[in-house]
Amino acid sequence: MTIAIIAHDGKKADMVQFLNEHREILDSKKIKLVSTGTTGEKAKKAGFNVEALLSGPLGGDAQIAAGVAEKNIHMVIFFRDPLAKHPHEPDIFMLMRLCDVYDVPLATNPSTAELLLKGL
Ligand code: PGA
Repeated sequence: MTIAIIAHDGKKADMVQFLNEHREILDSKKIKLVSTGTTGEKAKKAGFNVEALLSGPLGGDAQIAAGVAEKNIHMVIFFRDPLAKHPHEPDIFMLMRLCDVYDVPLATNPSTAELLLKGL
């Protein structure tokens, strides 16, 4: 199963904390992590094995959206920063829309992400 992780700048620390708190399940051989560029760098520094795609504003969210549409990504953990403006807003909406089109679980905050992981 492939899980995509994305965190806006204001949420990257929360993402690293979330990853650390769920290291046991996320490090399991059954789970592959993909991410946007900078989120992936942070996750790698924390010791996770992640395939980092492009940075979000440069197309990373769009790449993950394509992975959802192609059925290569099976869950998305996307810690959005609702208090910041984002130049790639259209890509963010596209990703969330495609998760709904393809019925792919999407968590936009740690509480929901925790419930999703518990459901695995
Ligand atoms: P980043 O992208 O991980 O490259 O910062 C995340 C985003 O802004 O969507």
